[in-house]
Amino acid sequence: MLCKKCVLPEAKPDIVLSADGICNICIDFEKRKTLKQDNVILESEVIKVLNKYRAKGRHDCLVMCSGGKDSTLALYYMKKRYRMNPLAFTFDHGFENEEALVNIKKAVNILGLDWVYYKSNFMKDVFAKIIESKTQAPICHVCAIWYLWFTHELAARFNIPLIVAGWTKGQSLHKGETGAEYNTMSAATSDFIANCLHKDPKYRDFPRSIKEVLARSRKKFKTEAISPHWVLPYEPDRIKEILEAELGWRPTKLSYPLNSTNCIMNFVSVYLCMKNFGFTHYHIEMSKLIRLGELTREEALKLLEINFDEKFINTIVNKIGCSLKG
Ligand SMILES: [Zn+2]
Repeated sequence: MLCKKCVLPEAKPDIVLSADGICNICIDFEKRKTLKQDNVILESEVIKVLNKYRAKGRHDCLVMCSGGKDSTLALYYMKKRYRMNPLAFTFDHGFENEEALVNIKKAVNILGLDWVYYKSNFMKDVFAKIIESKTQAPICHVCAIWYLWFTHELAARFNIPLIVAGWTKGQSLHKGETGAEYNTMSAATSDFIANCLHKDPKYRDFPRSIKEVLARSRKKFKTEAISPHWVLPYEPDRIKEILEAELGWRPTKLSYPLNSTNCIMNFVSVYLCMKNFGFTHYHIEMSKLIRLGELTREEALKLLEINFDEKFINTIVNKIGCSLKG
């Protein structure tokens, strides 16, 4: 059964539904709202951060761009709306969707930007270890941790003080803050990294959480990270229109949720999360957007409909020498 307000299922002890079917996350949110404790970020505050770094070096920001609509819009806005001089960065762990790569190539060419495309096999064994160890750690969480850490290292390499990402209002990666709905997933992720991954010398330095990435970065680099989506309305159709008209962007045919992902391994992550928890980080993100009034529950439910089967998942995991059977 799902919460009547958002799209989270009951998952004790983190997510508990009240007698009238509302989850604790929604109830807490309403309480905070009446206490006016929610942080509303204004565009002027983002511009203030951008002004601090604008034209301070060869590049004034590093934009994490996977070719999906949110990160491509972040790249487009940095150049066109905010007049920054971004370095575009794409991390490809070998499962990046080819159509998404075409999108990025078009975008950097049209915008006339420098671009770092880094394709690495580093994550391949991590994915295999996640599947073989039968950990509950979500693939996307583990991957996001390394991706963010590598981005900080790369920004430092190019002497860039600001990282820009396409995180939506439903994602709070910037502070490493996670709500109660993440507790079990986060614990599984840290446990997997510390007790399985770190045993392999090649992954000894792998941070255990986003929080650890940010703490390391504060100590070593002092890089800031922001997303323009925090201050812009959540308008996926409008974003698509802008990107199609200005950058020749096209949605990828295969995507879960619809028009969202650009990574094939994401499907495996979603499949395993549904099996392990009954929900995914997309349910968490969209539930936040529903609470913020940016997305209706019906729209979210439609986007979250599973549009793939186990056979498709097996063709993906077979590529890293694994199988989901047994
Ligand atoms: Zn709820």
